[in-house]
Amino acid sequence: MIGLTVLGSTGSIGVSTLDVVARHPEKYRVVALTANRDVEGIFRQCQSFNPAYAVMADSESAKQLETMLSSTELKTEVLAGIENLEAVVAHPEVDYVMAAIVGAAGLLPTLAAVRAGKRILLANKEALVVSGELFMQEAEKSGSLILPIDSEHNAVFQCMPSEFNQGLERVGVRRILLTASGGPFRQTSLEQLEHVTPEQACAHPNWDMGRKISVDSATMMNKGLEVIEACWLFHTSVDNIQVVLHPQSVIHSLVQYVDGSVLAQLGNPDMRTPIAHALAWPERIESGVSNLDFFEVARLDFEPPDMDRFPCLALAYQAVEAGGTAPAVLNAANEVAVASFLDGKLGFTGIPKLIEAALEQMPVTPASNLESLLAVDREARFVAEQTIATLV
Ligand code: NDP
Repeated sequence: MIGLTVLGSTGSIGVSTLDVVARHPEKYRVVALTANRDVEGIFRQCQSFNPAYAVMADSESAKQLETMLSSTELKTEVLAGIENLEAVVAHPEVDYVMAAIVGAAGLLPTLAAVRAGKRILLANKEALVVSGELFMQEAEKSGSLILPIDSEHNAVFQCMPSEFNQGLERVGVRRILLTASGGPFRQTSLEQLEHVTPEQACAHPNWDMGRKISVDSATMMNKGLEVIEACWLFHTSVDNIQVVLHPQSVIHSLVQYVDGSVLAQLGNPDMRTPIAHALAWPERIESGVSNLDFFEVARLDFEPPDMDRFPCLALAYQAVEAGGTAPAVLNAANEVAVASFLDGKLGFTGIPKLIEAALEQMPVTPASNLESLLAVDREARFVAEQTIATLV
């Protein structure tokens, strides 16, 4: 039995992960589930999966969960706080960790899992954007295997030769083509973008996801974060990555080889496919995803991205070119901007303006160690919070 901790089990990726796990009770045992405040959600999951531990980042929520579990037969131990998130990933009975906390809040527990040498099923792209260099160095030291859950990176991984770690040039790869649906506003004019609401931004045409990544998809910052993520995961520079708009979200990404071949991974847009792939790799298991019906899909379209209407993508390229702590600043300012947009405090087109202002105000320094990255993350959030008032 493979022991599994699911960080962020009550979220969209967490729920899909447990859906796949429930189909294979003979293979996987849930050792720990974690959430922030969703007591009802994690309580139901404890009843279904009977984990040894349930961790709530929020201590008040942990107390509530403990009370609810005390009236059941379950022996699940309830823990609270970030140190316990780190403890349940490094636990000796844990083999695999699904890293599915949203935002930089997932960085410390995910890094703890890397340092403990676990297999990481990496959904939490922000962890890699903030600390890519450190993250990959720690994985090399501990021997931790990182398998991407983002559908694009999982697709690229499936289309890559197994020795891609030696460098893309050596294995005959010319470039990575990351597909993007274009989100709900692919054809919306710049004028109309000024007035879009959180509900419109969260209504993705193809994917059902958490609210933060839905807004990131609408601004195309999600693709920008994914470009940075791909650089680290596939040991390549941004020049070897091209973003291709593909509104049907059937091709999840492609790899182009020097001989002219292009390999693609296709499937219905359902996160249970990459989750099942990473859980079982190098084998394959049932995920519950229906067969792709080519006659129903009928056609596949492609377009270049429009950087004028989606400046967040250009800002991500700018941050990756600046290097050092710039991606951490980009990420922190984006998290503040998205939360403010969802709270009605910032307009949709204010999101890139806020990020640009934070990038301008924060000096780029080397991303040398965790403490300095965390300090930059905190400072960039402060700068972004201060700047909001000047934009509204
Ligand atoms: P959700 O918002 O649906 O879920 C987030 C999870 O993280 C919840 O379990 C939440 O707990 C927990 N959480 C939130 N804040 C904290 C915190 N401060 N400390 C500890 N736990 C916390 O997000 P998604 O599942 O959509 O996304 C998760 C990650 O996966 C993101 O990084 C996203 O970019 C990535 N991803 C998601 C995809 C998708 O299809 N959803 C696709 C590809 C990547 P609670 O419920 O209690 O708030």
